[in-house]
Amino acid sequence: MVYSIRKTTAFAKDLATSQVFLILWEGRIEVIKRIKLPEWILLFLLILLLGIGINKLITYPNKLVNKKDNIQAEKVEEDESNSKYPDIHLKTFSKETDTYTYSISNPETKSEKINSSINRWMKRQKESFLKTVNINEKTLRPAHLNIQLETNRITKDFYSLVFRTYANQGDVNEQEMVKVFNFDVKKEQFLTINDVLDLDKKNLDKIKEIIWEELQENKELQPYLNKKQTYETLQEPDDWQWSIDRKGLTLYWAEYEITEGFAGTVEVSIPIKKLYVFLQDHMDSYLQMSKEQQVEKKKITQKELKKSFTHGKYIALTFDDGPSPQGTPQILKTLKEYDAKATFFMLGNQVDYYPDLARKVIEDGHEIGNHTRSHPNLSKMSEAYIKKELEYTNEKIEEVTGVTPRLIRPPYGIYNDNVVECAKENNQSIILWSVDTLDWKNRNGSAIQKIVQNESTPGAIVLLHDIHSTTADALPKLLKTLKQAGYQFITVSQLLDWKEKEGVSLYYGSRK
Ligand code: ZN
Repeated sequence: MVYSIRKTTAFAKDLATSQVFLILWEGRIEVIKRIKLPEWILLFLLILLLGIGINKLITYPNKLVNKKDNIQAEKVEEDESNSKYPDIHLKTFSKETDTYTYSISNPETKSEKINSSINRWMKRQKESFLKTVNINEKTLRPAHLNIQLETNRITKDFYSLVFRTYANQGDVNEQEMVKVFNFDVKKEQFLTINDVLDLDKKNLDKIKEIIWEELQENKELQPYLNKKQTYETLQEPDDWQWSIDRKGLTLYWAEYEITEGFAGTVEVSIPIKKLYVFLQDHMDSYLQMSKEQQVEKKKITQKELKKSFTHGKYIALTFDDGPSPQGTPQILKTLKEYDAKATFFMLGNQVDYYPDLARKVIEDGHEIGNHTRSHPNLSKMSEAYIKKELEYTNEKIEEVTGVTPRLIRPPYGIYNDNVVECAKENNQSIILWSVDTLDWKNRNGSAIQKIVQNESTPGAIVLLHDIHSTTADALPKLLKTLKQAGYQFITVSQLLDWKEKEGVSLYYGSRK
């Protein structure tokens, strides 16, 4: 855990200077008292001359400074030798006038794009500082702005530059804040927090909790923390100030942003282990995690996934007899709106006629199963005919979508040993259903709705058809009701995997 609390140490230096001046002045009076008149006059002249000389010495550089003011000149300290960071050089700009001083650490990368973003931000900081300076011009102590830099080279090309801005307006008003730039210097790209973490609504809520817990760990800081403020600052991930490496994610807040009372800027590091499940896949290689770390990450992620499956209410919607222009496109659109995945048992001939629709089904992340070529009652057919019906469809689906079906649904739910044999040969599962909506028969939205509502249970397989517009029309309401009841919609293969993991025997459903 890293954190920091900063306190002001301000007036001491000024106070010391003025005391020294007083002592000198009193000393001069003592000397003057002891001297007689003629010598007194001589000494007076001498002091006068000296005074003029010193005054000149003092005012001359002052005039130079004022001149510099007019042309906005700055003192620049630059390291021309090889930088420790191969792609970044550092310049420190400083300036001193009667009313203010500032010093700014200004890194310069090889990328113009990155430089201009950083410089834009710096310019804004400087301008807003100078604006307040002009208002308070008559204050006794000069205002000061310090922009300080902490350079973190995370991997070869990935840098995290942490700027700390300290602005003191000359009186007690002071402000300390943190700004971070994360970028890939070679790709000339800034990294956003969404590149790093998968921040959907559910994940964001969990991450907020983790951050809050971690902040609480800091006992010094804990009494000052305000939960409501903290959660508010985390609401918009794009506004977070953060940096990341293999060890953890660090978040930064300005003074008073999440604390009440004087607690300085706040910094917290979340151990990367606690964030494994939220990390985007490419971050393994991006952060150059070790093999051991990657294995550990995988273990934790899988454990979490299993946990979420156990607690989930899953249901598999299936659509038979398509693809068809009458139902499939509209159904795909609705499924997308509800973030639902489904399984389409397709007829080989329909796939041959509408290959684009089949492709779209796969592109949208759904599953395709084999429903034979032409919908025969397989129990009435020869072994060779069964084989031809199933194999034509396997090949057609593979040819059009590039995906080999794992599942077979026999038409009318009727099958015999020859069908089972054929499925085994191709390593496919025979899938029936547990909820029959009878949508092909009643062609009525509210009837479908009623059946699904009454018969759905976690792990159910629901039979629908994507060749009827009535089914397509009924789908939005159906999905809405099931979602409100806590259901999540997954494909049949996902459902089987889940059941296997949970030790439940394979469930093919039954035909009524
Ligand atoms: Zn069918």
